[in-house]
Amino acid sequence: MPQAEPGLYLHLPFCLSRCHYCHFNSVVYDAPLEARYAAALLGEVRLGARAPEGARANSVYFGGGTPSLLPAERIAALVAACRERFQLSDDCEISLEANPGTLSAEKAALWRSSGVNRVSLGAQSFSDGELRAAGRAHTAAMTGASLELLRQSGFDNISLDLMLGLPHQTPGSWRRTLETAAASSGVGHMSLYMLDLDEECPLGAMAREGKVTLPDGDETADLYAASVEYLRACGFEQYEISNFSRPGFRSRHNLKYWRREPVLAFGAGACSFDGRRRWTNASGVEDYCRRIESGRSPETGAETVEGERALSETLFLSLRLTEGLDLDRLAASRGEPLPEAYAAAIDEFCARGWMERRGSHLRLTVPGMLLSNEIFQEFV
Ligand code: SF4
Repeated sequence: MPQAEPGLYLHLPFCLSRCHYCHFNSVVYDAPLEARYAAALLGEVRLGARAPEGARANSVYFGGGTPSLLPAERIAALVAACRERFQLSDDCEISLEANPGTLSAEKAALWRSSGVNRVSLGAQSFSDGELRAAGRAHTAAMTGASLELLRQSGFDNISLDLMLGLPHQTPGSWRRTLETAAASSGVGHMSLYMLDLDEECPLGAMAREGKVTLPDGDETADLYAASVEYLRACGFEQYEISNFSRPGFRSRHNLKYWRREPVLAFGAGACSFDGRRRWTNASGVEDYCRRIESGRSPETGAETVEGERALSETLFLSLRLTEGLDLDRLAASRGEPLPEAYAAAIDEFCARGWMERRGSHLRLTVPGMLLSNEIFQEFV
């Protein structure tokens, strides 16, 4: 089977401030450090992650951090560097993560003219109390204004990130958030994430000390299940555990991760995969810059993913997708049936109603999606 065209990921780890629940690789914006980092990142893109000169790519994703915080000229220069080093397809999806309140008409115009055609906006909630409690640097009104600005700038492919399980969230406030998001014109995609608290983050400590009350896990699970139904009724098809889209608005780039297609990633902490080998860059911003500036590789770790490891990844990544997994096709590509332990686990999950099998096709049910982490443990 010919290998799928790769995607390119560029990590921009700067944010206005740190949200109380953040466990991503991000730092508070510092102009001199950001300029130094951008120069290093340009240098790494020009090296091309060992891809042959002129290699093809059909998606570019600026993730963070808050890429929209950077001067738009940086984004334009990085897109240009991608075009010089790679042959981007005519229909290349070029996504940029943005946070409300960090956009301007000038920035949006430059993003568009440089080729950005999709914006993923970190709305999280349309309740100011929830946003404040989560330490977000924006309000619901700022999200509305950013959406309007994007539409006026010609963006018709906008995704919203929303978060379930925030402090103060109630079924009513979540319903209002979801209704506002679904009714926003230009929004063709939504990602619903469950708040995932790291013990070390400020919100985790506040919850432990009883300074903040989080919604009950069962209630949040019910809200997730109801959201799947509500979004379907609004024309958003679920295609992955956390992702929903109107027809034609699935994220081409993110699908590559779940389908184990190649993604070449640049920047601090970025993780690349070429279909067989996976490698990771130094995660610290300064360490990453120093390595590039001194002509060293930013790579700090690598592994070859083969055999049973590759099989387990295929299982748990493709089961994240609602299209699921064709077991006969998988067995044919491997030249042998699934190991007995996996087959037994699948039978058990089907019996419990967490998976369903139609012919040779296997997928998670909605209750199974809510238990996906536990289920996937069986395949690791
Ligand atoms: S915007 Fe995202 S990356 Fe930045 S601090 Fe908040 S959660 Fe972390």
